[in-house]
Amino acid sequence: MTTHLVLVGAGHAHLHLLTHADTLQRAGYRITLVAPTRFWYSGRAARLLSGAPRDTCSLDIAALATRHGIEHVTAPFVALDVHTKHVFLADGQHIAFDVLSLNVGSDIVPPTASGSTVPTWGDARYWHVKPIERLDALRQHVLDAAQRHRVLRMVVVGGGPSGVEMAANLAGLSQQLGVANDIRLVTRHSRLLPAAPDAAARWASRQLTRLGVEWQPDIAFDDGAEWLDTLDFSPDDIVLATGLRPAYCVADLPLALDDNGIRIKSTLQSEAHATIFAVGDCASLTDSPLPKRGVEGVRQGPVLLKNLMALQNGTPLDAYHPPATALAIVDMHDRGLALYGKHWLGGRLALRLKRYIDRRFLRLYR
Ligand SMILES: Cc1cc2nc3c(=O)[nH]c(=O)nc-3n(C[C@H](O)[C@H](O)[C@H](O)COP(=O)(O)OP(=O)(O)OC[C@H]3O[C@@H](n4cnc5c(N)ncnc54)[C@H](O)[C@@H]3O)c2cc1C
Repeated sequence: MTTHLVLVGAGHAHLHLLTHADTLQRAGYRITLVAPTRFWYSGRAARLLSGAPRDTCSLDIAALATRHGIEHVTAPFVALDVHTKHVFLADGQHIAFDVLSLNVGSDIVPPTASGSTVPTWGDARYWHVKPIERLDALRQHVLDAAQRHRVLRMVVVGGGPSGVEMAANLAGLSQQLGVANDIRLVTRHSRLLPAAPDAAARWASRQLTRLGVEWQPDIAFDDGAEWLDTLDFSPDDIVLATGLRPAYCVADLPLALDDNGIRIKSTLQSEAHATIFAVGDCASLTDSPLPKRGVEGVRQGPVLLKNLMALQNGTPLDAYHPPATALAIVDMHDRGLALYGKHWLGGRLALRLKRYIDRRFLRLYR
């Protein structure tokens, strides 16, 4: 008898399952994957913005599923019934499961105090840094400005790694294309990269200045547009890089939830249901809240595989132990900033290291 395993989302941890599908199939699982045809890799977000070919920044999930004998459904997941054990998709389909795993990632945190998802600040056009594939449209927008000889007036909201990456690469791209630009970054904090060492944040600040980006600290955002008055220009575009929160499709699921996502035990099982797993940015590890970063999903993949096997074999499940610290490298267009706990390294070498790590990761799934 087979056990129907439904995987929702092809995030980092599920990529590992896809390439180990034969192990799961031998243990008696039939696998269905519910996911878009492409996975967009955030490690290459800045490269996508800078014009790297789309297929070097993403993976062909349809091909991966076919290669591993997995049924693949592309309609987005929208709801879950835990009593009848069905997932519901946007096109009206529903799929019965015995075991379910959710790896649907994250969306941008609303920057306003009220948590409204569509800010009403002025007349500017809004861009979100997630989903990553939208950065291709942002790049087209910059190309369009170049063709029309229009000045780019942009504000990036958020001084964390993704805001710094976006500001640096928008400025770098504009310079390359010869687009006149006024690109600013604003943050609610008193400094850039609040989780990085002070000296690393100062280095990042100097790089932004070198690229022509002015940044402004201590901007308190609210639902009003007053903060825009603190700028001495009126932006045409606002790029939201205000941090990550669990994907919107998770918000109303009938599972134990908190602000960080689906509450999971160290075994990666939902607190509420032993046959439902959640991993990556959509999950909230009850014992130790995790930062939203791809590396967590990468490390959870092998534990998830082991635990799905254990569930099938009736043996004890393993615990996921998050790393105390992990390497993160911020792509600042022509330099990188590598961060590892209180250690850091800024320069071209760090950027080369990032490109190498990211290429190696994608190669695993091509
Ligand atoms: C600009 C930027 C740069 C970043 N750079 C880095 C970096 O260098 N290193 C790092 O560790 N982190 C980085 N991050 C953070 C990183 O993006 C996330 O932490 C990471 O992608 C989370 O991985 P995940 O596997 O949980 O989800 P994702 O990688 O987001 O994968 C989730 C998948 O689920 C799919 N999905 C979503 N909704 C549905 C649905 N309803 N139905 C079916 N499928 C669905 C999505 O299409 C996606 O393929 C960056 C973030 C941003 C915004």
